[in-house]
Amino acid sequence: MDTKVKTRLNLRERYNLMTRDLDWEPSYQSIKDIFPFLEYEGIKVHDWDKFEDPFRMTMSAYWKYQAEKERKLYAIIDAFAQNNGHLTLTDARYLNTIKLFLTGVTPLEYMSGHGFTHLGRHFKGAGPKVACQMQALDELRHAQTQLHAVSNYNKYYNGFQEWRHWHDRVWYLSVPKSFFDDAATSGPFEYILSISFAFEYVLTNLLFVPFISGAAYNGDMSAMAFGFSAQSDEARHMTLGLSVIKFLLEQDPDNLPIIQRWIDKWFWRGYRVLTLVAMMMDYMLPKRVMSWKEAWEVYGEENGGALFRDLGRYGVKVPMGWEQACKEKDHLSHMAWNVFYNYGGAASFHTWAPSPQDMDWLSSKYPDTFDKHYRPLWEHYAAEQKAGRRFYNATLPMLCQTCQVPMFFTEPDDPTKICYRESTYKGDKYHFCSDGCKHIFDNEPEKFIQSWLPVHQIYQGNCFPADVDPTQPDFDALAEVLRWYKIRPGEDNMDYADSPDKRNFKAWREQATTN
Ligand code: FE
Ligand code: ZN
Repeated sequence: MDTKVKTRLNLRERYNLMTRDLDWEPSYQSIKDIFPFLEYEGIKVHDWDKFEDPFRMTMSAYWKYQAEKERKLYAIIDAFAQNNGHLTLTDARYLNTIKLFLTGVTPLEYMSGHGFTHLGRHFKGAGPKVACQMQALDELRHAQTQLHAVSNYNKYYNGFQEWRHWHDRVWYLSVPKSFFDDAATSGPFEYILSISFAFEYVLTNLLFVPFISGAAYNGDMSAMAFGFSAQSDEARHMTLGLSVIKFLLEQDPDNLPIIQRWIDKWFWRGYRVLTLVAMMMDYMLPKRVMSWKEAWEVYGEENGGALFRDLGRYGVKVPMGWEQACKEKDHLSHMAWNVFYNYGGAASFHTWAPSPQDMDWLSSKYPDTFDKHYRPLWEHYAAEQKAGRRFYNATLPMLCQTCQVPMFFTEPDDPTKICYRESTYKGDKYHFCSDGCKHIFDNEPEKFIQSWLPVHQIYQGNCFPADVDPTQPDFDALAEVLRWYKIRPGEDNMDYADSPDKRNFKAWREQATTN
């Protein structure tokens, strides 16, 4: 008996035994039948074993680590709820950012879990399979922890109750929803690039960080806790995204043009979703962290710029639309909040005009554009509102066929002119907000002619409850759309100044601090 048994394995050996060595070469089924999605996108992978999982984490370590984070997170959420933490918020107005997050982002986390489960099944290499499996679990956990963290607010405030229903129907939520539907209906390689790379790596810092630091600044311990709990997962996801893209670029030179096209597409799609974040940062937070412009300069221009310099070694170019995104930083949030103020009667959260102090802050952050282009607009709205004529737009806007944002963006070099682009496909005309969105459509017209555009659907009569007859003379289209949305007029939407949320918050706070 002279067999040597090695009693202690190093980390790498352990990892290989627990992951790669569980993989096998099939003998009685063909690889093509087992992994049917690996070739049609044109990506070539010659050796899956060359993929190095950057974290080399085993499942047992994963569970231990995540369980520890869950314990801490739920202790904080419970303590916050039990101590009526919602009364320590800067202002209940803040909660509208959380409503936006819950309806726009949380369902995407859940979708992302589905997507990564699919990749875990359909990628061939054991390394990426394990990494995708872990990310799938992370994403499910994110959806759950976000729901749990904000569920306490649903007891006291309006606008939380139908979040899932709203995600599928409400006009502006088709912006994030269509982003993810587009990703989830692409092939496995495009999916991982769109989510792991473009979304997690290039854009997460601009989506997640502003919401979570906004939570911290405005006294929302609950949302802050889920943010911190998710942050270490995000670091893992970003690294996965970058290592996958480098792996694919190293596998075959033919992959470069395909990947470049995806980078162009997904940068622009992701950036358009960030329109909602921009207005959140500049207009919706009672106490602001930094302006959208500053965030774009730090996380977009500096971090993104460094990333693209790094990828330049592989021949990857800065994504199409990058220059326009940099030009829009002075305008994006103002244009977007104007549209929400206009359509505040059809949103599932409250809107308001910025106060004089808010406007001074905006002037200081946007010295070149705010006073010139946007202050006059807000002063006009405020005067109208004071005279009892709070403006609600009763018409519907044209939507971009690709990103589904209303067509309010201006020409990159002329902030006084709305940007319109169009393409004709099979005899029909399609409209776009930008060169980026037109370019995406022109590459995949068969996919994008199928876009479920909320405004078109309303005009086609597809967004009314079944019990109404639109041909009747007393038919109220907007009221019926809201009923179909399950939005309660005046409670879930319209101006914050007149909302039950505002009244209740004030009364409860008085109760908590006086006799
Ligand atoms: Fe996530
Ligand atoms: Zn667009």
